[in-house]
Amino acid sequence: MHSKGVTFVKILWFTFVNLKLGHPMEQYQNFKEKSVQGRYVTMESLAKEWLPKHDSLHWDTIGASVDGEKILGLKIGNGPTKVLMWSQMHGNESTTTKALLDFVNYLVSGETHARHLLQNCTLMMVPILNPDGAIAYTRVNANQVDLNRDAKDRSQPESRALRKLFDSFKPHYCFNLHGQRTLFSAGSVAKPATVSFLSPARDPERSVNVTRKLAMQLIVAMNQRLQQYIPGQVGRYDDGFNDNCVGDSFQMLDVPTILFEAGHYPNDYEREQTRYYIFLSLLEAVSVIADNKVEDHPFDAYLEIPENDKLFFDVLILNAHKLQDKIENGEKVGIRFVETLINQKIEFIPEIVEVGKLSGHFGHTTFDASKNTDLERMEEQGLNTLVLNINN
Ligand SMILES: [Zn+2]
Repeated sequence: MHSKGVTFVKILWFTFVNLKLGHPMEQYQNFKEKSVQGRYVTMESLAKEWLPKHDSLHWDTIGASVDGEKILGLKIGNGPTKVLMWSQMHGNESTTTKALLDFVNYLVSGETHARHLLQNCTLMMVPILNPDGAIAYTRVNANQVDLNRDAKDRSQPESRALRKLFDSFKPHYCFNLHGQRTLFSAGSVAKPATVSFLSPARDPERSVNVTRKLAMQLIVAMNQRLQQYIPGQVGRYDDGFNDNCVGDSFQMLDVPTILFEAGHYPNDYEREQTRYYIFLSLLEAVSVIADNKVEDHPFDAYLEIPENDKLFFDVLILNAHKLQDKIENGEKVGIRFVETLINQKIEFIPEIVEVGKLSGHFGHTTFDASKNTDLERMEEQGLNTLVLNINN
């Protein structure tokens, strides 16, 4: 009788979790933090609605930035397994921050599965590690230092704050949350790397020990989940060793650390769709950790995830010689958007970066300058003038 009851509860629970994770888009809308959207995300954006809403949670000021902005950490959950995550170490990489806000909303929602996660894990989350870079919309901090190349020297207050938190919290897992540019393809195919992962190396030989393996297994779990939503759009970064990178340095200290990279989804320059896939990744990873199922995943499946390539332009123009006689027949024009902060908003300013055969490259948008309909659309986006002014 007892075991039947347990089985019944188990089936009910798994059904629930599968429902939760299998069709989460509808529910996700309930947790999505609507007060924070788009690419420009600062502490001020969080302070409008999200921070006050969660005022009663356990907040720590873990340090201050170069310009004296507070760096906040949120501790949530009572479980034995500790996970440390930090986002926006690069100030202009805000997508994972948005997903983190949504994930916190979910965790405190009182949902059965969310409560289960908090009973089994203690999470320490830093939504914006580089608040000055967030304000300026730069990768670097206010001293122009890339914090992800400062793990060894820790010359910057933000780097010291993260390391101090790492030392005091003593995490079992670390999530290093970043965003990547639109140029990355998941392998050498016309699929954008919407989400990328890396289990960083811990030595120049890039050896795979238990720590690195756990990070790989967790990535395999997230990849399995993501393939249901964005098949072929998950990539893997190469694992060249650099002990000045935070991920490598924490991995060296025997804490499985995962690099997350939020990337491009078609027509989603505001990264609101990718935000959802990062939310799903966080939910999956923490669920697997909470259930003690990390090691159930085959680590070698990690190597089957395609390695990222740089094959995308934002815009690719075919037959550009029709517009500009300096361009030869058969050559293409590759355009990338420069993300520019204008009046508290990110504008995407087109810039020609390459003219040539560009074989094996793709465009998130492709225009054919021999077609009038395409020329009209190019004109609307100011691309014709750009092509006409080449070399001028
Ligand atoms: Zn980054």
